[in-house]
Amino acid sequence: MLKVDTNKCNGCHLCEKNCPFGAIVVINDKAEVGDGCTLCGACLNTCTMGCLTIERRRASPEELARYKGVFIFAECEERAGVTEPRKVVLELIHKGRELADKLGEPLKVIMIGPDAPMNTDVLLAHGADGVIAYRNKLLDQYSTDSFTTVLSAIVADKKPSILLMGATPNGRDLAPRLAARLRLGLTADCTALDIDDEGQLVQTRPAFGGNIMASILSPYTRPQMATVRPNVFPVGEATGGKGTVEEAVVTLSKGVIRTRVLETENLKAEGDEGIENAKVIVAAGQGMQTPENMALIRELAETLGGKIAGSRPLVELGWIPHTLQVGQSGTTVSPDLYVAVGISGAVQHLVGMSSARKVIAINSDPDAPIFKVADLGIVGDALQVLPKFIAKVKAAKAAA
Ligand code: FAD
Repeated sequence: MLKVDTNKCNGCHLCEKNCPFGAIVVINDKAEVGDGCTLCGACLNTCTMGCLTIERRRASPEELARYKGVFIFAECEERAGVTEPRKVVLELIHKGRELADKLGEPLKVIMIGPDAPMNTDVLLAHGADGVIAYRNKLLDQYSTDSFTTVLSAIVADKKPSILLMGATPNGRDLAPRLAARLRLGLTADCTALDIDDEGQLVQTRPAFGGNIMASILSPYTRPQMATVRPNVFPVGEATGGKGTVEEAVVTLSKGVIRTRVLETENLKAEGDEGIENAKVIVAAGQGMQTPENMALIRELAETLGGKIAGSRPLVELGWIPHTLQVGQSGTTVSPDLYVAVGISGAVQHLVGMSSARKVIAINSDPDAPIFKVADLGIVGDALQVLPKFIAKVKAAKAAA
């Protein structure tokens, strides 16, 4: 909390003027802190009297030790009347299993949804030791209020050491709300997760515009919370593990849900079907030079039975929609084959496709960084290479 030493405060209003959240008010020549304070610290440097201090909650080692287990929040969707986990949940179970084994702690999945059958078997088969399930008809559609209420109650009760969730649109909405509710740190969009020698979660993600990879620890709060984008980790084998399903007890009333989705609309345009789950992607970069040359990218994608995608500059140029952008500020993909044409291989692009199984790169610059991640590199002018490439694939298909 932000504390004011009223003996030193002279009511100068500097902190009040510099608080970005309007949370400080000077009353009777003394600064007073309101509920809007987020502990951002902006006021500290402006106070010339040194009367402001922030006391952050730091759990003691004994308190931290009470938190055990790697927990995954299962974002679900309804399929044929059954609540099913999304693919990203299975990806997180695969990584979570590795983390839990390193810690020697259990891996559990929290599955919440409407009053309908839940496919908990798939979670156990993929390696979870247990599922904590909660069903309520008020959870028939996602809302920040209802999901935060239920999830924060379960997390506060079960005290996991680590909580992971997918960085999907709903996950990105829920995770910060939950972190704020429980006063936790949160590392969003992690590209790697590991356990250090002290048993802490090492959360790696690009920082400063992707120019460095930051390794982030949460040493004073539990659970350590991180989100991971779909397709960053692979889905493991479903080996049919055994485990327990426990029903959670949480009170959820209609009154806490302040928003309802009244209508949803599907916008149909190129790229709306998405590239997230594409098996083959032909991605173009600025090396394609003109939008007309994208016809070659489309032809190759069609010949290979794949989808087109591109680097961020192509979105900025208006050649492709944002839904087709691969990378840090676009989509993360993990196709079986990724053909990168005229793409330099900036780190912000690579983080979005580094889990592709096979990468073919076509670039006129032999020193382009994309060649470092390519299984097959073709140095040459894309406009000359692509027609030959397409002809070869067509000939191979005809022969087959
Ligand atoms: P360039 O870097 O210009 O590379 C063009 C390549 O084409 C070169 O290697 C060149 O040798 C080659 N070339 C030129 N002519 C030919 C030819 N005739 N035949 C073959 N090759 C040729 N970028 C993304 O892609 N996705 C993101 O999500 C993303 N997010 C970002 C987020 C932040 C915060 C920031 C700061 C940047 C982000 N970027 C992102 C931008 C990124 O840094 C690069 O600028 C971008 O990826 C470069 O795109 P490019 O490779 O198409 O273009």
